[in-house]
Amino acid sequence: MNGKTVRDCAHEIPVLMECDVLVVGGGPAGMAAAVGAAQAGANTVIMEQYGCLGGNITLSAVEPPSWYRQEKTTMPGGVGTEIEKRMIALDAAVRTSFRPSVGYSYDTEVFKYMADQMIKDYRITPLYHCLGTIPYMQGHTVCGVITESKSGRTAVLAKRVIDCTGDGDIMARAGAPYEKGSPENGQLSAGTLKFFLTNVDIPKLEAAMDEDPMSRDPYVHKLFYKTFQKAINAGEKPLENSLNTMYYTPMPPHDINVNLSTYDRELDGTDVLSLTRSEIKLRKEVMKVIKRFHQYGNEEGLGKAKLRNFAMTVGVRETRRLVSEHRITGREILEGERFEDTVGIFPIYMDGENIKKIPYTDEYFQIPFRIIVPQKVENLLCAGRCVSCTRDAVPTTRQMDFCMVTGQAAGVASALSIQQETSSRSVSICSVQQELERQGVRVF
Ligand SMILES: Cc1cc2nc3c(=O)[nH]c(=O)nc-3n(C[C@H](O)[C@H](O)[C@H](O)COP(=O)(O)OP(=O)(O)OC[C@H]3O[C@@H](n4cnc5c(N)ncnc54)[C@H](O)[C@@H]3O)c2cc1C
Repeated sequence: MNGKTVRDCAHEIPVLMECDVLVVGGGPAGMAAAVGAAQAGANTVIMEQYGCLGGNITLSAVEPPSWYRQEKTTMPGGVGTEIEKRMIALDAAVRTSFRPSVGYSYDTEVFKYMADQMIKDYRITPLYHCLGTIPYMQGHTVCGVITESKSGRTAVLAKRVIDCTGDGDIMARAGAPYEKGSPENGQLSAGTLKFFLTNVDIPKLEAAMDEDPMSRDPYVHKLFYKTFQKAINAGEKPLENSLNTMYYTPMPPHDINVNLSTYDRELDGTDVLSLTRSEIKLRKEVMKVIKRFHQYGNEEGLGKAKLRNFAMTVGVRETRRLVSEHRITGREILEGERFEDTVGIFPIYMDGENIKKIPYTDEYFQIPFRIIVPQKVENLLCAGRCVSCTRDAVPTTRQMDFCMVTGQAAGVASALSIQQETSSRSVSICSVQQELERQGVRVF
């Protein structure tokens, strides 16, 4: 922002549609929220700014929601399990590269089709290419969302709204308290632009990974690093915006999906200028990474690799976090805390830059309803990576499977609160728990 302002003239805003529950944002949390609400009997709309559902899965090509999963891991069930079954049935899920792991990586293109079908099966109304800008409020109550799209500025009215934008766009503009990044200096987790390569010798690449058990170890997480190591040994400086490792999913016969190589520590996903800079910076970085593969990656099958495509957008790992009555903490997660208002469980698993906790045992913690309920605002719930937590909990709360549990709980709570003629925050927790169990979620 440059500090100047202009005055907008007041418009009459046409109503595009009305519904019981409006879910803003169609990522893992939003899809689960919409399915949860629809299964609980609500007439539901899912609004998404791009042309497909999936969020980071499809927009940023993040394909492995459950790479961490081990033989004994206790899984939360619900929509995440249903998605996995649908992806396996479409022959669009492969085992991840880590050993041991019983988790899957998804084909992020087929995911778009799967998501369309799933939404249709639950009679949810999709609204794509539609940006939710600000909440439409009466006093402190959210009654819908103002949107911008090719149809112009319109309103979608709803009895309940769920913010699944990842960034908490709606809750922040509704006036709910939130925080962003590190409490010390505001630092956010880095963004990554994923990309796909073709012309890769996959058998050679897999053999290079197999030679070194560290490459595939989920805890060591050293991933594929040999090509980068050779460049350093040859006296090359490490690339400025890259890690010297790479995670990939093979897409035989010649393609791979590349994760982690590019890293932008300056990215702020709530700042349009920062997003613009990051896309340009990281596209340039990807080209440098590919050049390194050509120079040093022949033995690993990368010597003739060609760029197939960049992910649709830079992947954002962290922005706003709701501050609600309870902020779940890293300690509560690691100690397997139990809560009376539990709306789901999650394995004791963390994946952050400085922490890895792989769920080799069946231990888990419970997720309290309070972390999705904003303060000061009525009939709005907030699910996904912007739930209320301390920053040391983010390595868990940003995980897609976790986001889906909070989404499904928000969907069910919103639908039931309409039937109970009470606000989203005052819904009967016991009824939410029962409905979630009916929907296949493990609650206790
Ligand atoms: C490179 C990278 C690698 C990762 N690796 C893993 C991994 O291996 N495993 C894992 O579990 N997680 C991983 N994550 C984290 C995970 O992808 C995210 O934390 C998770 O997708 C968050 O889900 P969400 O539904 O809350 O938000 P998102 O996935 O961000 O979805 C939000 C959706 O809302 C839409 N939206 C946003 N604002 C608006 C608006 N105002 N109006 C309309 N629509 C809007 C967006 O377009 C998007 O579709 C990774 C993230 C990145 C960036």
